[in-house]
Amino acid sequence: MKPGLRIVIGPAVGGISAFSHIVFGWNGRADGRHIMALSDKAWGLSDNQDFYVRFWGVRGSIACPGEKTMRYGGNTSCLEVGCGDRLLIFDAGTGIHAFGADLTSNRGVVGGGFKTDLFFTHTHFDHICGFPFFAPAFDPGNEVRIWAGHLLPERTVREVLIYLMMDPLFPIPIDTMRAKLEFEDFQAGDTLDPGDGITMRTAPLNHPNRATGYRIEYGGKSICYVTDTEHVPGEPDENILKLIEGTDYFIYDSTYTDAEYPERKGWGHSTWQEGARLADMANVGTFVVFHHDPDHDDEFMDAIASDVEKTRPGSIVARENMVLTP
Ligand SMILES: [Zn+2]
Ligand SMILES: [Zn+2]
Repeated sequence: MKPGLRIVIGPAVGGISAFSHIVFGWNGRADGRHIMALSDKAWGLSDNQDFYVRFWGVRGSIACPGEKTMRYGGNTSCLEVGCGDRLLIFDAGTGIHAFGADLTSNRGVVGGGFKTDLFFTHTHFDHICGFPFFAPAFDPGNEVRIWAGHLLPERTVREVLIYLMMDPLFPIPIDTMRAKLEFEDFQAGDTLDPGDGITMRTAPLNHPNRATGYRIEYGGKSICYVTDTEHVPGEPDENILKLIEGTDYFIYDSTYTDAEYPERKGWGHSTWQEGARLADMANVGTFVVFHHDPDHDDEFMDAIASDVEKTRPGSIVARENMVLTP
C-alpha cells in the first residue's frame, strides 16, 4: 500500500453507518443456498469463476435500446464483479434492472440472506437511475452496502439516493427498500478494505461534479474500472496511470473517438485512443473500451473494434452480458 493512503473500514468515514464486517459476517455461509447459487456454473461463466467481471450495461449518458444497438447493448453502466463468494456491483445504471432480475429469477436470491456492495463511480443520472429497480434491495433480510467517493464534504450518497426516490421524481421513497442499506462515503484516493481479501484502490477522476476510479485486487489479479473521466490531450492523467499500473483489465471511458473529441471538449469524457495510450504507458494487460456514446450504433462500434484492434491488439470492446476473467 502506498504511504499516505488511508484504509477505510466500517464507520470511520462519513459516520453514517454502524457497519462492521463482523455484523455482516460475509464468510458465514449461514445460508449456503444463496452463495452456492451465485457460484453455480449454470449462469455461463468460464471455468475460472473466482474473479470475474460481467457487463450489465456498457452505455454512457442515456440508455439507447433498439435495433441498431442490439449487439453491443443499450443499457447504461452497471458491472458485476465476483471475488470468490463476494459479489460487488459497480454503478446502478439501467443495466442493474436485468442484473437484479437475474439474481432473483436464476440465482436463488429470494427470501433474504443476500449481501452485496454497490460502488458508485459518481451519481450522474446514467449511473444511478437503475437503483430504484434493483429487486434484491426490496427483500427483507438482504444487505446492500453502498459506497461513493466523490460527494464529501458537501453531500453523502445516502442523501443523493433519498432525493432520487422522492416525490415528485419517484412514487415510493427509499424506505420502501426493506433490505438493510448501509452507506459508506469516502474520499477518492482512499484505499478501501471491503473484506475477504479484496483490496480496492481508488483515484479521483476529471469529471464535472467529480468521479472515482476503482482498482479491484483479488487473488493476485486486478481489474480497473475508470469512468467517467476527461483527458487533457498530450497530458496523460497521472492519477489514472498510478491506479492502473500493470493491471490485468483496464475498463475505460471511451465515449468518443479522437476525431470527435474536439467538438465534445469539456463534456467530461475521453476517447478510446487515449485509453489505449494510457494502457500502453501503464503496462496494462487488456484494454477494454467502455461507456459507449448512445449515438454510436453497432456498425460504428464494429469500426471502433477494428481500429482499436489495429492500435492495441487484443483489446476488447465491452458488450452487454460479456464476462471477463483475469
Ligand atoms: Zn456516465
Ligand atoms: Zn458522468
